[in-house]
Amino acid sequence: MFDYEFIKKQDKEVYEAIVGEERRQAEGLELIPSENYVSKAVREAAASVLTNKYSEGYPGKRYYGGQEFTDKVEELARGRAKKLFGAKFANIQPHSGANANIAMYFALLQPGDTVLGMDLSHGGHLTHGHPVTYITKVFNFVRYKIKDTKTGEIDYEGMRQMALEHKPKILLAGFSSYTRELDYQKIAEIAKEVGAISVMDAAHIAGLIAGGALKNPFDFGFDIITSTTHKTLRGPRGGLILVREDEEIAKKIDKALFPGLQGGPLMHQVAAKAVAFGEALQPSFKTYAEQVLKNAKAMERVFKEKGIELVNGGTDNHMLLLNVQSGYGIDGAVAESALDKAGITLNKNVIPDDPNLPMRPSGIRFGVPAITSRGFDEVAVAQVAEIMHEILSDPQNEELITKKKEEVKELAKRFPIKESYV
Ligand SMILES: *Cc1c(COP(=O)(O)O)cnc(C)c1O
Repeated sequence: MFDYEFIKKQDKEVYEAIVGEERRQAEGLELIPSENYVSKAVREAAASVLTNKYSEGYPGKRYYGGQEFTDKVEELARGRAKKLFGAKFANIQPHSGANANIAMYFALLQPGDTVLGMDLSHGGHLTHGHPVTYITKVFNFVRYKIKDTKTGEIDYEGMRQMALEHKPKILLAGFSSYTRELDYQKIAEIAKEVGAISVMDAAHIAGLIAGGALKNPFDFGFDIITSTTHKTLRGPRGGLILVREDEEIAKKIDKALFPGLQGGPLMHQVAAKAVAFGEALQPSFKTYAEQVLKNAKAMERVFKEKGIELVNGGTDNHMLLLNVQSGYGIDGAVAESALDKAGITLNKNVIPDDPNLPMRPSGIRFGVPAITSRGFDEVAVAQVAEIMHEILSDPQNEELITKKKEEVKELAKRFPIKESYV
């Protein structure tokens, strides 16, 4: 897409890695539910001279001079983010989703305070208190679970009991491997009952919320939304924190992020976020978000017809969790690697209370945001699901995999990566 004229002349090694990746992305099918393809406009902004600029602080309150244009770009990004989600305040400086969450914790908590979030094997994210992360040395994380993995319904009564017992300062919703819509009303009520701040980590589904395909937690009184910008929101890699209306909370978050956690913002990424938010405000993004849900449902139908067990009984969003151990008698690592050989990229994943070891979990997780950006419709995604089923039914069959790889390439060719979405 870019010609990389200068890298090509100056640095063959990096050049070859970049064009290799470009080819990989074009020829394979990306089913990792947290990935997407940004527009060329977003990439132009990310590659712009704004990378040269230090802009520590916030618009109008910087620690360096020369901020005429960086202020403009950050204001544009903030204004568009607020409009997209119906928030009064937005901080668009987090370098990543993880940083957004860490800043949110430090803004609202004292060491030793408690966060009630979703159990990690039931769908929560590393940054929601996985023991390998440093934040668990500072804060106390307790967890609610899914009540029934046949339906995916969350145990809201269990959540309430835990909230009453542990008195969390933050009641955290959100997930990276959960397939159902949340009952924000109930969660917000429980938060209110125990005096907790309600936070939705919408990293995965922010684009579906912005596009109006899924409910907006702010409509149910949630206080804060944290997110990434590069998943369903289809922007550059980065993070985002939105505050519905409480100015005191917004001030604390700004301070916690800078100078608390980060130094200078990545202004080229901020510019790219502004461009992506501008795209998400277009009617075409609504259509995209709706198509994502339709496509996920179309894949669900194929696996259901084959009698394969879907964790949580199916999907309301962009992703699906398959129990390949029960469905095909193989573990998630075998499934991931067989599909990878055919050019279908996804990841192995634990299922709730997985009896298998984490490196060989019972499930795979996949989703449709990236292929939907390429223009895949229900018929095309059903074809992908059929290919997956054939491979998973016979994962050692190299001949079959070679044949399927050709079909995958054909499909990829029929739906080339787009340069523009507006
Ligand atoms: C992806 C994700 C994050 C982290 O985002 P990074 O940009 O990778 O740091 C945080 N929370 C949830 C729920 C996620 O899915």
